[in-house]
Amino acid sequence: METKAIKGGEFVIRETSYTDVFIPEEFDEEAKMIRQTCLDFLDTEVLDKLDRIDAQEEGLMQGLLDKAGELGLLGVSIPEQYGGFGKNFNTSMLVGEAVGGGYSFAVALSAHTGIGTLPILYYGNDAQKEKYIPKLTTGEWKAAYCLTEPNAGSDANSGRSSAKLNAEGTHYLLNGQKMWITNGGFADVFIVFAKIDDDKNLSAFIVERDFGGITMNPEEHKMGIKGSSTRQIFFNDCPVPVENLLSTRENGFKIAVNILNIGRIKLGAATIGSARSVVTQAVKYANERVQFNLPISKFGAIRHKLAEMAIRLYANESAAYRAGQNIDDAYAALVADGMDEAKAKLKSTEQFAIECAIIKVWCSEMLDYVVDEGVQIYGGMGYSAEAPMERAYRDSRINRIFEGTNEVNRLLVVDMLLKRAMKGELNLMGAATAVANELMAIPDFGEEDTAVFAAEKRIIANLKKAGLMVAGAAVQKLMMSLSKEEEILINIADIIGYVYVAESILLRAEKIYHTQGEHVATFPLDMARVYLYTTLDKVATAGKEALYAFAEGDELNMMMVGLRRFTKAAPFNTKEARQRIARKMIEENKYCF
Ligand SMILES: Cc1cc2nc3c(=O)[nH]c(=O)nc-3n(C[C@H](O)[C@H](O)[C@H](O)COP(=O)(O)OP(=O)(O)OC[C@H]3O[C@@H](n4cnc5c(N)ncnc54)[C@H](O)[C@@H]3O)c2cc1C
Repeated sequence: METKAIKGGEFVIRETSYTDVFIPEEFDEEAKMIRQTCLDFLDTEVLDKLDRIDAQEEGLMQGLLDKAGELGLLGVSIPEQYGGFGKNFNTSMLVGEAVGGGYSFAVALSAHTGIGTLPILYYGNDAQKEKYIPKLTTGEWKAAYCLTEPNAGSDANSGRSSAKLNAEGTHYLLNGQKMWITNGGFADVFIVFAKIDDDKNLSAFIVERDFGGITMNPEEHKMGIKGSSTRQIFFNDCPVPVENLLSTRENGFKIAVNILNIGRIKLGAATIGSARSVVTQAVKYANERVQFNLPISKFGAIRHKLAEMAIRLYANESAAYRAGQNIDDAYAALVADGMDEAKAKLKSTEQFAIECAIIKVWCSEMLDYVVDEGVQIYGGMGYSAEAPMERAYRDSRINRIFEGTNEVNRLLVVDMLLKRAMKGELNLMGAATAVANELMAIPDFGEEDTAVFAAEKRIIANLKKAGLMVAGAAVQKLMMSLSKEEEILINIADIIGYVYVAESILLRAEKIYHTQGEHVATFPLDMARVYLYTTLDKVATAGKEALYAFAEGDELNMMMVGLRRFTKAAPFNTKEARQRIARKMIEENKYCF
């Protein structure tokens, strides 16, 4: 089937057809087999060793990465010429998801295969790729990514690490201190960002542990992911051969940002895997635990939680793989146009950087919600280190902090959208003006479309209008100062993110309905409807907060009328829908969607 080229961020102003989205149900047998291999690996190698992993037993994590390498799990998306399987982006997302239920192991693996390996794969020259990628693919060498410094976290380009060419012109001498480096304790290869001389921008270097001049602090004592090695690393005149400069001088910040785009969406995939395992554990526990002579899964309050956990998981999963496929499609189009494969990989992710940031934020917050309710369903046992929820709860929290904090990513979503609008790539202001005109016109009371999904699509279209109305008015009113109005930007990001996820779950239900039949779509449709209805309130709240912050008088009144109109929908019994969803899981004794 021919699909229309979809541009990143365009969902804000355009309706997407279900025929244009990928849904996880469409993964082929091979992808499913790879996923199963990962799940089996966790079952046989990782999940029975969680305490030992968290105690950082000497050599254990490295050994597990070695075994994962032997099975090919470190090279799923690495081109075959370097020893990988050359699979597409969405398959690598599926691997990230499957491994995502592996607690600290998942963090070590994804840091190695993602931020550790990809800078070389995408920015390295042939010699660098030939030297490093095959060894990183087998796991013979492990990788880490060193961007953060004590005084340069979110403001990553402000790092003080420096590189100076030696007198002979053969080596850069690297000096500086890096902080929070995942896999730092055992990595053989470090991607290190530092400024050459008085450069304004960072450069990136491939640094081997054996180059010398590297020391590190002991392991950090962390709230969660205790089994993941996290170190401060010091570079003291560390000699880096000139041929180990990655890409060109001062291109480091660009590398850092682009690699983090990929890291963000993959982090989203990993949270889906964690959430799946947490929801299943919660369902099982709710079925086993008896109070007041009944399994607690019989109680409405618990059913509400189980259903809501499943709905948020399903919704975010829909969004993550929708965006993953957009990246794959964009990549294919760029390669067909003659672009170099590594360049096309980067460009395609960059095109969907808005979606990547949304997925990072929404998925990490979904997982935090899921583990929090998981603890609650387990009651006192949720608080006990002997039961699984305690670790899941602690381990989840980091996801809102690394790969760009959720605040920074929310701000980025709006910043990137406005920049694309300014460059003329997205006609945001045209769409916002159309909404403003619609508000001034007499409402259309014509016959409502009663076709299947018409009401839900109307909700999505209206929510987009609400976002455009608020964002358009904010741009007009605040102009250049909008970039400093973080609270308003975050309100706008909330609207955009919720709308993206809500639209994604609806498109998935619609596709299942049309391709697999109405009976198969019952639960997806229930989940989509509940998500949609809760999104109405979220958008209404975010919109109201933003409008109150910058509008007043008649203008405010008019936009409040618009906001109410755009966030209104016919009544829907979310309680009954959640009951149906929960009952299904309770029957199956697992997360089953
Ligand atoms: C366990 C762990 C593993 C990590 N692994 C790695 C790794 O492998 N490699 C690596 O390079 N880094 C790594 N990091 C670092 C991580 O990416 C940073 O912690 C993160 O980017 C935030 O930086 P920071 O901690 O300095 O917080 P800060 O930047 O100081 O932020 C503090 C708070 O201020 C907010 N804030 C900052 N700037 C703004 C702004 N402009 N507007 C609004 N709010 C703002 C943040 O959202 C946050 O809430 C890791 C961190 C941890 C904890």
